Amino acid sequence: MKESIRLRSGATVPQVSYREAQAKNYLDRATLKLMHLAPDGAPAAYSEGKNGGVVFWFDPEKLTESDPELWYAPDARQETVKLESGTEIERMSMRRAASFGYYPKERLTAMHLEVIEEPVAFTRRRDKEIVYFYDKMTTLRMPLMCVKCGKDVRFKKKLCRACYEEDLAVRRAEGDAHRNAYYGMDRSRVLFFDLELTGFYDHDEIISISIFNALGEKIMDTLVRPVHTKKWKRTEKIHGITPEMVKDAQTLEELTPQIKEIFAGADNLIAYGVSTDYSHIKYIYATEKERKALHSKIRCCANEFVRYIHEHRPDIEHASLTDAMACFGIEWDGVAHTSIADTIGCMKVWEKLFPHYYENEPEANE
Ligand SMILES: [Zn+2]
Repeated sequence: MKESIRLRSGATVPQVSYREAQAKNYLDRATLKLMHLAPDGAPAAYSEGKNGGVVFWFDPEKLTESDPELWYAPDARQETVKLESGTEIERMSMRRAASFGYYPKERLTAMHLEVIEEPVAFTRRRDKEIVYFYDKMTTLRMPLMCVKCGKDVRFKKKLCRACYEEDLAVRRAEGDAHRNAYYGMDRSRVLFFDLELTGFYDHDEIISISIFNALGEKIMDTLVRPVHTKKWKRTEKIHGITPEMVKDAQTLEELTPQIKEIFAGADNLIAYGVSTDYSHIKYIYATEKERKALHSKIRCCANEFVRYIHEHRPDIEHASLTDAMACFGIEWDGVAHTSIADTIGCMKVWEKLFPHYYENEPEANE
């Protein structure tokens, strides 16, 4: 069976026997050194070394003259040591080693690289202790470890499976406490809303507003006549609102006093993907203080759904309103993707996420 290894450089190197390597005139490192040659690129093959290590073979066609510095050490501190395999390696400074891509094992480990070949050079520490250098080119990329325990291979979110499960259990418990709390909200003061726009950008204008309360009562459902935009061909296909339909509608400015009154009477304003809606509706308020007050009442049903599926349904990958409704088995009320149907859909999803949103905590002694 032919084995091969994949080096960190991405090169795949096949295993060969010593006999095959010789037949192909492959050279090992010791021979390269004697010939003052250096590899130009990844090794051509490898064999298992005598003492369990790895011997790399280099293609004689892919060699370069080695830098004179590699075989001519001007500082005259020449010293070699003989490895167990019989190969002699040379002493060189840390700086010179790095210029050839040779590093101590700890450095390579810190780079998540695994050393499989014997050392290619060495240096001595101040206390004369040997520090071996290994060729970065022939290392393997190590799997990344869990950031929490450091013992196992990462599974998700930089954690191993066990740490991920543990972390998920904590988040799930927090999420469940948040969702199952008794909020005691007044259904008439919790509003669900949906806006349709002429486009997706900040300068786009609102062309429809739907607001329902949590009793399912329609508070406002109106088209809005934009004042700057004349056509919106692209979004027209999505929401079906044409310039003709809005030509007699009120402008946002005309509707503003009514909208402000509705918002003033609300404790919460909830939408599915509320950030776009907020970034347009906030302009009915002139001051930053009023906008902040509005923002503090706003809740995003999509964010809550995303949190829920992260904690309970990792199998669900998408989080559109349609996905959320399907997840809880909620049917569309009316034509899907009209403002009214979306608003009612959002209201129902919210009630599945927060089953006690409109209830007070039961008495402890009951
Ligand atoms: Zn772990």
